[in-house]
Amino acid sequence: MTSDDFEKLLEELTNVGGPSGFEEPVRLIVERELAPVIDGREIDGLGSSISTLNNGTSRYRVLLTAHMDELGLLVKRITPEGFLKFQPIGGWLPQAIIGQRWIVKTHKGEINGITGIKTIHVMSPKERGEVFDIDGMFIDVGATSDEDARNRLGIRPGDAVYPDSKFKALEGGSRFIGKAWDDRVGVAVLIQVMKGLAEAKAPITVVGAATVQEEIGLRGAQTSGYLAEADIAINLESGVAGDYPSISLDEAQEEIGGGPSIFFHDSSMIPNTKFRDFVVDLAERENIPIQFNVLSGYGQDGSAIQRTRGGVPVVNIGVPTRYLHSHQGLVARSDIEECVRLVTKIVMSFTDDVVENLRSFD
Ligand SMILES: [Zn+2]
Repeated sequence: MTSDDFEKLLEELTNVGGPSGFEEPVRLIVERELAPVIDGREIDGLGSSISTLNNGTSRYRVLLTAHMDELGLLVKRITPEGFLKFQPIGGWLPQAIIGQRWIVKTHKGEINGITGIKTIHVMSPKERGEVFDIDGMFIDVGATSDEDARNRLGIRPGDAVYPDSKFKALEGGSRFIGKAWDDRVGVAVLIQVMKGLAEAKAPITVVGAATVQEEIGLRGAQTSGYLAEADIAINLESGVAGDYPSISLDEAQEEIGGGPSIFFHDSSMIPNTKFRDFVVDLAERENIPIQFNVLSGYGQDGSAIQRTRGGVPVVNIGVPTRYLHSHQGLVARSDIEECVRLVTKIVMSFTDDVVENLRSFD
């Protein structure tokens, strides 16, 4: 895949709408990209897509995971005036929801809308300093009434809503802005790594799971992790960049352009220490830049995989991302490419002996 083709894939993956529970458009892209190279595929009962590259001789299976879902909203009800009240899906800051453009996925097609913000002209000085309350928010789709929203626009309670925010390449294509890098950047890495491993003939059976519903509790990782029967696993995520004004190094330690990050701690998981050190040593040996992150919050699919069956050694590897969980995120091309290189090298080193050693506590 040329770097232009890869940029196009990133653009397609970030533009497409797939809030938790509504990931199908993302899954179709993953399956289209992987179909020519994989040996088998199954979809679990929640909708995660699990692809396999078989190695007939290895004793072990490595699982690579990345989640397809993004933050969104769900239509709760339509007011008599035609405004949409909603339930947030995933961890939104109220400030990130208000005053934005959105797309509503109806059974008739996609509809544009905005979360209108009360005008400053009528606010008291006290009210101007307050954070907007999610319960008071609504989407304006230009409807004239409840009936107009239902009949003309086809909106129904339960319809999914996702951020209206389009991909853009900055700095000659070295930086990309868009929504949902969490975790479409991980999905892009998963696709590239699977393609590379198919071509290079990995020394181990590789299972690639594009999971659903991570943002609302790692749900797809639980079910796909059960099916994957992994002996060792790598979760591919958007990392948390701590390199812009208003964030401190005590909150997040990685930066854009510094290479992929390995998480030493987040509130959901402590990685297997042997595997963690193996990744750090390998990156050093291969001259792949790597960063470390210790977060007090955050959660990721790796923690669900870690607890499948009798317990699985897992690491979480991130592509540094600024402004997560909002309409506009920023990532660097070099970090994505180095992440692909690192994960491919790790899996290519997985002989039976290496995996056996990483799994052992001796
Ligand atoms: Zn994520």
